[in-house]
Amino acid sequence: MEEKPDFIVVGAGPAGAAFAYYASSSGYRVEVYEGSEPGSKPCGWAVPVQIEKYVKVPGDTVLTEIRGFRVYLDGKLVHEHYGSLWGYIIDKRLFITRLLEGSTLYKRYVDISNPYSPRIGSSRLEARERVVLAPGLVGLPRAARETIMAVQQIFRTRDVVEEDVVEIWFDRELVGYYWVFPRSGE
Ligand SMILES: Cc1cc2nc3c(=O)[nH]c(=O)nc-3n(C[C@H](O)[C@H](O)[C@H](O)COP(=O)(O)OP(=O)(O)OC[C@H]3O[C@@H](n4cnc5c(N)ncnc54)[C@H](O)[C@@H]3O)c2cc1C
Repeated sequence: MEEKPDFIVVGAGPAGAAFAYYASSSGYRVEVYEGSEPGSKPCGWAVPVQIEKYVKVPGDTVLTEIRGFRVYLDGKLVHEHYGSLWGYIIDKRLFITRLLEGSTLYKRYVDISNPYSPRIGSSRLEARERVVLAPGLVGLPRAARETIMAVQQIFRTRDVVEEDVVEIWFDRELVGYYWVFPRSGE
């Protein structure tokens, strides 16, 4: 009979991948099930520098170092700050792949409609310690979530942009706000 892993993680977004990283670094055998591609959800790919208190951001995953930000309200600049390292724009897929290196990844969708009994087809997934559900907001069973709409648009431009500055725009005509990240890799 096949030995059960210590942990099974459903979902290889930042939460599932971080859990897998910590558990596998502590010597546990971890299997991760991801229904899509790890880290494929829309994202600005920005991480604050404080993340390095917990996990080193490998140099080859860093696309840009962010050294400033500007905040706009209704199109007017209301705050700006430059000069210190705020964080990074990273290649998120590569970063998540790195976090998963100590685990075994299966690109399979898991039926978690009964969260106490996650299944692939008729097989129930079982771990010696725990099954960890990290499906993100969108992957949660319908009854357990509210829907929050988010739109991501990636523009290619030939104009020169400041690569090390992030802009955050609030507009009272809109619910929510929007970011302008200088680079998101794709
Ligand atoms: C437009 C936008 C931009 C953002 N930009 C940033 C940013 O720059 N920096 C930042 O830190 N945060 C950003 N965020 C927030 C960030 O994306 C979320 O906080 C983060 O993705 C949550 O991680 P998670 O692992 O919980 O879920 P997710 O990232 O949603 O990952 C869940 C994973 O589980 C998989 N999955 C779901 N159900 C199943 C299933 N049943 N079986 C198998 N696999 C399953 C999904 O395919 C997915 O890969 C942004 C969010 C949005 C909407």
